[in-house]
Amino acid sequence: MKEIYLDNNATTKVDEAVFEEMRPYLCELYGNPSSMHFFGGQVQKKVDEARKRVAALLGADPSEIIFTACGTESDNTAIRSALETFPEKRHVITTRVEHPAVLTLCRGLTKKGYRVTELGVDGAGRIDLDELRNAIDDDTAIVSVMWANNETGVVFPIEEIGAIVKERGALFHTDAVQAVGKIPLNMAASTVDMLSLSGHKLHAPKGIGILYLRKGTPFRPFLVGGHQERSRRAGTENTAAIIALGKACQTAAEWLEDENTRVLGMRDRLEKELLSIIPHSRINGGGAVRLPNTLSIAFEFVEGEAILLLLSEKGICASSGSACTSGSLEPSHVLRAMGVPFTCAHGSIRFSLSRFTSEDEIDAVIRELPPIILRLRQISPFGRELLKG
Ligand code: PLP
Repeated sequence: MKEIYLDNNATTKVDEAVFEEMRPYLCELYGNPSSMHFFGGQVQKKVDEARKRVAALLGADPSEIIFTACGTESDNTAIRSALETFPEKRHVITTRVEHPAVLTLCRGLTKKGYRVTELGVDGAGRIDLDELRNAIDDDTAIVSVMWANNETGVVFPIEEIGAIVKERGALFHTDAVQAVGKIPLNMAASTVDMLSLSGHKLHAPKGIGILYLRKGTPFRPFLVGGHQERSRRAGTENTAAIIALGKACQTAAEWLEDENTRVLGMRDRLEKELLSIIPHSRINGGGAVRLPNTLSIAFEFVEGEAILLLLSEKGICASSGSACTSGSLEPSHVLRAMGVPFTCAHGSIRFSLSRFTSEDEIDAVIRELPPIILRLRQISPFGRELLKG
């Protein structure tokens, strides 16, 4: 059975062109870029090129790019760096809908005596800027707000948030793991001090990420040791993955237009068709600005996990929440923060498309999903009541 992969917010396929770019740097050109000899030097040149390619996608300067192992490491590094830079400041602001890479770290900080404010969201997943204005004070070391939510695709007004943060002299970090390659970003004209990106969300391999660090931003490295990354991240560079990430970023820039036209069109068609065919369905984050590739849709009185299993039997891969929360039957923290009723949160499915998604695959979901929902409602007492109504 050929898979229909609609779980691209969990991870993406490595683009063949990206793989071809990295391939020689595994078995043949395996030198250490720090070596003095020609063999390492030629790898260093490719790493430099990759850094330029990543910077170009972000509208940043290459010197502002630090290669890390993943989005999680970048998130952890940014927040810990701010706290070490300003040891006298004991307050952190984030949101209730962040990825665990931020939220777990921040919640742990409360046990170490930090004050952590988690901004709430409304029913559509939007934050209230006045809540931020009221929460931020001279004790705030860092504000960390994701650019786009991984579960709902809701996009936050990052520049407006950044303007508020800058007025109060705190550092501003954004987890842009889901935003990069899906919406245009321009660090040159941005209020963001630090930004996290993860390769495996944009058709590069797993295990590579970056931290964007605005020139002049005070910084303390998370990993110390060798002088790699200008002493900002020790450890021998994952050269093949770095080179792959450079190619993936270059390609993402070329496909950005497609993402916001063709991919968006497919997402909108899927959304419209499912809403019209399946009664008692609603979009999570429907009233907000959203990523072009993400659809989080709730079907009342059905179990998300049951839907996923039946979809999987048809070869369709989706998710019932973030990749990290599936496996637990609790509704996701994101949907709970939005106040999505339990009966809907439990039956929420996330479809996340990519440039490799085809119209035929969307047709298949529109064909296969409605009978699955009907079948599940028929075997649930509440679902049967719903069908009668
Ligand atoms: N932040 C967001 C918004 C994510 O969606 C993810 C991964 O799902 C991460 C951070 C973690 O990235 P990584 O898997 O590269 O550690």
